[in-house]
Amino acid sequence: MMRVLMTSLLSIAISQPVLAAFELQPLPYPATALQPAIDAQTMTIHHGKHHKAYVDNLNAQIKTYPELDKMSVEQVLAQISKYNPAVRNNAGGHYNHQLFWSLMAPTGQTGEPSAALLERIKADFGSMDEFKKQFNAAATSRFGSGWAWLIVNPQGKLAIGSTANQDNPLMDIAELKGQPILALDVWEHAYYLSYQNKRADYAAAWWSVVNWKTVNQLFAASAPQSSSTRSSSEQP
Ligand code: MN
Repeated sequence: MMRVLMTSLLSIAISQPVLAAFELQPLPYPATALQPAIDAQTMTIHHGKHHKAYVDNLNAQIKTYPELDKMSVEQVLAQISKYNPAVRNNAGGHYNHQLFWSLMAPTGQTGEPSAALLERIKADFGSMDEFKKQFNAAATSRFGSGWAWLIVNPQGKLAIGSTANQDNPLMDIAELKGQPILALDVWEHAYYLSYQNKRADYAAAWWSVVNWKTVNQLFAASAPQSSSTRSSSEQP
């Protein structure tokens, strides 16, 4: 009896810190900061309830997969096919939301696209307007819940697409693969209080709070290897 008690106490002592491997960071601005594009109540519920649930549910999976405790969420996503749907949904949900908060900023603090990014947008989409049009088309045409993405694909080009549920382009199972540099949450929980069924209005208003400083940084960091390295590594 005593031994059973000791063992369970010990396991509690050991497992407690392990179960908080993934952390919910605070929003990088007040919940009111993105108004009127995104209302404060939506931000509070979205971050404090929805994102928190993804983090809590991902941490709960450490019981099933102890190795998750030592992995970054990006490492988990890169081999998501090894895991159950709970890890897929919640690791995706945690990464996507953490990225999403960082991709928005209050009006006046959003910066603007860097010259390098603008050049690539023009090269890959024709113009900034055309890029936004295609991105919003991906956001509004995604059936049900999901995300719209701008990624740097493995060929080093910008590409637009969307994923269902909490999937994302870092997952080994994704059809659209690459490094995300911009993302829009098109789950109803992201916009319904202010926009109801008008997803297109939400997607249009959202551009006013896009944090180009973060997009520029992600774009710069995802620059492909030099073309000589690339082409030599791609030779058969
Ligand atoms: Mn969401």
